[in-house]
Amino acid sequence: MPPAPLLEVKNIEVVYNEVILVLRGLSLSVPKGEIVALLGANGAGKSTTLKAISGLLRTEEGEVTRGEILFDGERIDGIVPDRIVRRGIFQVMEGRRIVSDMTCIENLRLGAFTRTDGDVRRDIDMVFDYFPRLRERTGLAGYLSGGEQQMLAIGRALMARPRLILMDEPSMGLSPLLVKEVFGIIRRLNRDLGITILLVEQNARMALSVASYGYVMEQGKVVLDGAAAALAENEDVKEFYLGGH
Ligand code: ATP
Repeated sequence: MPPAPLLEVKNIEVVYNEVILVLRGLSLSVPKGEIVALLGANGAGKSTTLKAISGLLRTEEGEVTRGEILFDGERIDGIVPDRIVRRGIFQVMEGRRIVSDMTCIENLRLGAFTRTDGDVRRDIDMVFDYFPRLRERTGLAGYLSGGEQQMLAIGRALMARPRLILMDEPSMGLSPLLVKEVFGIIRRLNRDLGITILLVEQNARMALSVASYGYVMEQGKVVLDGAAAALAENEDVKEFYLGGH
């Protein structure tokens, strides 16, 4: 039997500013413990999908106007973002969005805002074990390199002890070497910590190399889905998303 879905998005429609229809009946499913890739061209609606799940759409005048989003079998659409974090979902935003005039440790503490247990210090150490370079950076986060900022953004997500991480283009703006490093870490978070990951990426090749399943979006809905290995061999995917190779 396939693993039970941790996240189910069922036929959702999303509208911005009450008029612009961006998602048009989008459905996807993320099984517990797996990495699922969400691919598609610019403007297909990938970031909007993640924001619909994390509740962050509200901050951009967006709204889920149809369909359902279920996390561990319970409806979460319509719930405010901090409650969604408390349920175990954390979004790592595109462009990293760390707080540049705070230190790494202060940024990490922000990620733990929902926690009431006293283990925050231990988790900071755990994040530093994953990202040893951050341990050495004691200055303001704004001075970190792009790769280090991406690592800090992922580290901040870990501080919430999430069950599901929504990752929006973790490879954006990084050198090929750093992309490899960040994807190695994504794989480890999944394998070692059992975190389920929904991964939005322009770098389809990298995404399909770590994911078990993938969805391809066009104009607000899924046009193709399948096992990651099969998608990587699909002629359309190769032509449009893997640079024709
Ligand atoms: P990209 O890779 O460029 O981020 P994407 O697939 O993530 O693309 P979205 O960012 O979800 O796509 O955008 C989908 C569509 O929704 C685009 O046409 C975009 O212009 C529109 N859109 C996104 N955010 C808003 C907003 N806050 N208000 C109005 N329209 C928006």
